Order: sequence, then C-alpha cells, then structure tokens
Amino acid sequence: MQRILNKIKEYDCIIIHGHKRPDGDCYGAQFGLKNIIESSFPEKNVYVVGEKSDFVDFIGKMNNITDDAYENALSIVVDTAVQDRISDPRYIKGKEVVKIDHHIPVDDYGDLRWVDTSFPSCAQMIAYFYYKFKNELKLTLDGAIALYTGIVTDTGRFRFRGVSKLTHQLAGMLIEKGVDVEYIDNKLSQESLDMIALKGYVYSNFVTTDGFIYIKMTRDVIEKYSVTDEQAASMVGLIGGIQGYPVWALMIEYPNEIRIRLRSNGPTIDKLANLYGGGGHAKASGAKLEGWEQLPAFIKDVEDVVRKYKEEL
Ligand code: AMP
Repeated sequence: MQRILNKIKEYDCIIIHGHKRPDGDCYGAQFGLKNIIESSFPEKNVYVVGEKSDFVDFIGKMNNITDDAYENALSIVVDTAVQDRISDPRYIKGKEVVKIDHHIPVDDYGDLRWVDTSFPSCAQMIAYFYYKFKNELKLTLDGAIALYTGIVTDTGRFRFRGVSKLTHQLAGMLIEKGVDVEYIDNKLSQESLDMIALKGYVYSNFVTTDGFIYIKMTRDVIEKYSVTDEQAASMVGLIGGIQGYPVWALMIEYPNEIRIRLRSNGPTIDKLANLYGGGGHAKASGAKLEGWEQLPAFIKDVEDVVRKYKEEL
C-alpha cells in the first residue's frame, strides 16, 4: 500500500481502469480512488475510463480521453483478476501499471500489485487504503458514496462471506463522511415493471438438474422484456439459496459467447469456472461458453462438483 501511494505521488496523471461489464464494486473502487487522489492532490490529472454501467450511473461518469493522456501516466486497474477482462485495453500504454484486486489471482499482470482475497469488495480495499493514510489523504462525500455503494453491492448488503468487523468499521467511517444509507438503497433498489415481469419469467422457467439450478437469458427473452443486458444479468440472485440446489447460475447470451454468472452456497466453484474461461471467488465466479452446445458438458461438470461436495459432507 505504501508503494502504491508513493507511485501515485510520483505521477502527474493517473488513469483508473476497471473490468468489462462493470458492477457496483468496480465503479465504487474506480470513483472512490479517483476522489481520494483528486481531493488529496488537486494538481494531478485523474481519469476514470472503461465501460459504463446504468445501474450505478449515479456514482459518476466515465472520462473520454485520448491516447496521448497515457504518455507518462500511471495506470491503476481495480477489481480485475485477468488482463483480458480489463475494460479499455489502453491501460497497457501507461508508463507503469498497478493492480488492486480482491479476486483469486489468475493473471499476475502489473508492475505493482496489491491483491487480497480476504476483502469482500475492492471498494473496501480502497476505503482501507484511505483509512491507513488518512493523515495525508482526503476523501469527500462523493468518494464516500462511491465506496459505500461498492461495499454494499459486492457484499449483497453485508450478507456474504468475507464481511468482517473491518467491513462495518469502514462502512461506519463512510457514513461519518455523510453517506445517506437510504439514498443509496433507493438508488440500488429501483425496479421497472419490465424487471418485475422478467422476474416472473425467471421463476417460471428455471431449469433444475442434480443439485444445480440455472436460467437461460437468450436474446429473444431480453428483447421481449425490454431490459438491458445488465438488468437481465442481475436476476442471478433469484434462484439462489433454494434447498437441495447449492449451485446456481444465470446464463446470458451475447453475439459471440454465453456468459455464465455462477454462484454457490456449498462447493467452491472458481476452479470449475477456470475450466470455462473464467474465475472469480470461491462461491461467486464468472465463466463463458462458446455456444449452447457446450451447456450439457458444463452441467455435467457442475453436477460432478456438487456430487463430490455432498460425498464429503
Ligand atoms: P459475475 O457473475 O460477473 O458477477 O462474476 C462473479 C465474480 O467473478 C466477479 O467478482 C467477477 O469479477 C469474477 N469474474 C467474472 N467473470 C470472470 C472471468 N471471465 N474471469 C475471471 N473472473 C471473472
């Protein structure tokens, strides 16, 4: 952390990247870090780049920058385990690259890395970074809102494994900075009628196999319910925690691949996700299929993982 702070001090321009299809934690970590650097070192140019998220758009807006901004710049990549998931591949043009992440490491990219899987969100890492150096760093309300949003979204509102005393202490610190808990919850909880209708679809169309539940989000379903890909993908939690089904997944169809959001409250699933071009956390990972024809093999692999887990109980 000290070495990262030294790097930040060394550079006049810092460009913060996240991952493709960013979520609340990615945005929270990116905009939280931007706020800390900008507030503490007003003379520096700090940019946040990458794909946009409608869900957490209230946190901040991405910057559009030209390639020459990377000349003599420090690239910081947050919340991203593997290089090919980094949003905006120009990060590599930075003079040096720093990786800050809480996922199980797959890819050791970066000149300087701070990777700690004990943190339940990357936003908590950034909040901790601020806390550690609070005598020399500043954080304003906008940054606190970003970090708090990252923490609540990635912990499922403080429900997931990894939530600790430190998580609550840092959340408390952010509330002290003025975060309005209800305002953030309202922003995150808003749902359209289309979303409610899609929930009905999910509850009527999930498929069960041996210990595994999944729902397919094909393009025709997404179009029929007039939702964004991000909204469709957010349905994964609906089929979680059902008795007898410790592993569940939402599969969303894209033009060239099918993205799997894989979840578990039983066996660890990140190794399985590694076999299908993915990874993440022990109980929440992402993976990919090249097409629906790969689905039977994937289901069989999940069933094997569940079977082994049940045998070991
Ligand atoms: P998601 O289902 O997209 O919410 O992903 C669950 C977790 O796994 C998140 O923390 C992601 O950052 C991570 N993840 C998703 N896809 C991949 C991938 N292809 N490779 C590595 N990690 C991933």
